Amino acid sequence: MSRIHLLTPRLANQIAAGEVVERPASVVKEVLENSLDAGATRVDIEVEAGGSKLIRIRDDGSGMAAEDLPLALARHATSKIASLEDLERVGSLGFRGEALASIGSVSRLTLTSNTSDSGSQGSSAACEGREMEVQLKPAPHPRGTTVEVRDLFFNTPARRKFLRTEKTEFNHLEEVVKRLALSRFDVAFSLRHNGRVLHNLKPGLSQAERQRRVATVCGPAFMDQALFVENELTPLRLWGWVGLPTFSRSQADLQYFFVNGRVIRDRVVAHAVKQAYRDVLYHGRHPAFVLYLELDPAQVDVNVHPTKHEVRFRDSRAVHNFIFSSLHRALADVRPGGSAEAGVGADGASQDALQERLGDGLAVNTATGEISHQGGLAWGAQATAAGGFGAYRAPAGPAPGQAREQLRDYGRLHPLPDVAGEEEVPPLGYALAQLKGVYILAENARGLVLVDMHAAHERITYERLKTARASEGIRSQPLLVPRAVAVSQREVQVATEHAGLFQRLGMVVEVAGEESLVIRQIPVSLRDSDVEQLLRDVLADLIEFGSSDRIEGHLDDILSTMACHGSVRANRRLTIPEMNALLRDMEETERSGQCNHGRPTWTQLGIEELDKLFLRGR
Ligand code: ADP
Ligand code: MG
Repeated sequence: MSRIHLLTPRLANQIAAGEVVERPASVVKEVLENSLDAGATRVDIEVEAGGSKLIRIRDDGSGMAAEDLPLALARHATSKIASLEDLERVGSLGFRGEALASIGSVSRLTLTSNTSDSGSQGSSAACEGREMEVQLKPAPHPRGTTVEVRDLFFNTPARRKFLRTEKTEFNHLEEVVKRLALSRFDVAFSLRHNGRVLHNLKPGLSQAERQRRVATVCGPAFMDQALFVENELTPLRLWGWVGLPTFSRSQADLQYFFVNGRVIRDRVVAHAVKQAYRDVLYHGRHPAFVLYLELDPAQVDVNVHPTKHEVRFRDSRAVHNFIFSSLHRALADVRPGGSAEAGVGADGASQDALQERLGDGLAVNTATGEISHQGGLAWGAQATAAGGFGAYRAPAGPAPGQAREQLRDYGRLHPLPDVAGEEEVPPLGYALAQLKGVYILAENARGLVLVDMHAAHERITYERLKTARASEGIRSQPLLVPRAVAVSQREVQVATEHAGLFQRLGMVVEVAGEESLVIRQIPVSLRDSDVEQLLRDVLADLIEFGSSDRIEGHLDDILSTMACHGSVRANRRLTIPEMNALLRDMEETERSGQCNHGRPTWTQLGIEELDKLFLRGR
């Protein structure tokens, strides 16, 4: 080993760049965040060759004075925080003061800036990744800043080798722009690649303008099948859009979560969302969402990761519970006539609204073929402005159990009403006929309703079984031979703290020693499950997230299977009164918009769509 010496500034910056500047997308993230911190109302992004050749970002923010430019390029120089107290309640996106220095050490960087509009000259500072010497000279620029980054990694060939194809790099970069565009509806964004304008997002804070931007960034199909949610439990506020369970994805690629305007990935948040969707999504499918959590900045630590993609909540349990319960409630109301249902074509607006949303001169997501199809038939719930909470109704207390008998009784219990005045027509209307023993055809105020009768009945039966369990309790039985489980001291402690949770779910778990638990009693329906593994998983959840729904999950899976077997099969002839009874039950049942596997249970074909099929009124 040689003697200790200080690193040169360039090498120190290049090491820091290793953490912060992974690829062109990271440059765009840092530079855009600076623009937003500078109060920009418009940012224009120009990129060549996926960003590795050129990234130029221009904003109309506060700008920088000539004498500040060299400082902006120096490491550990920031205007955003000055003290530890500031760090503990950061309001800006940046605060580490090392992004520009890092970028400058691995590229040819030029800053051009001006703090005033009044015709005075701006100045520019260039630095070439050499010894971090800055050349300063006057340059014309309106108020604001332009940051130009050329030839990224030109002097760090090892890094350069890690870059992927132009297309891949650009995709990453575009994703960064999308995230930031979703974080600030009040700022205009434009993105150009190799001379072609790809996005041109107008600013706006009205609900319609926000929805337009989400539709542009996430695709109109998402907006069409998303619920607007809004919930506040001081000091926490959550709002945004969640995809209907029937709009699930095969990948977790449409998930945006913002904490105080900063996009983050967080295990606690991910777990809470997943738990909220548990009962309505098929295994292996992923929900889509764009959600905003707002809380006191002092309640969240953003200084945990150099790229600030992670945060730490002071009270992660409260955050978890809040997110879970907000979304769970909203999703429970996804049923015909529920507040979560508005339906494409309610006013025949789907097609036009989509067209309008798309007509913003945007080149993205113009998968027109797909859109016109979606617009017509999709069972869309567009956000009612107030969101899913105001009109939330408790389940109408259906008779528990009786899955099998229930259908036989339909006709008797629910006679068809004689009148059908306009306003009295229920959301799913009245049955007309049965098609191929699978679908119910019904007429409502908007036109034709199609119901998958097995899927619908399965959900109704399942919800009834769950209600019954809630009122009658879970049947549980002692194990013939109690099962000892070796665990850690921490797990013993957590099991003791949550003894109530286990008890409520029919599981008796006792402490048998400092590092040992014993399972004495389990729910009857979990007889054939691996309860030891279940206990371990639950304890792991409790330690990490402060809550666990695994036992409910297992119990629900079993009820779901029972419901499937107990439900009316395809190819069973139903009478008109039976069909009407099923429609009424759907309207009353929580989550009845999708079956237990997350498939839709019904769809609407409005009279306008029918007219179009026959070219009527043209
Ligand atoms: P940080 O954002 O963590 O402060 P940076 O290295 O990203 O560190 O930027 C250093 C400083 O340069 C910022 O604190 C800010 O004062 C200034 N700056 C950077 N970009 C801009 C911009 N677009 N407009 C105005 N000031 C900027
Ligand atoms: Mg910064």
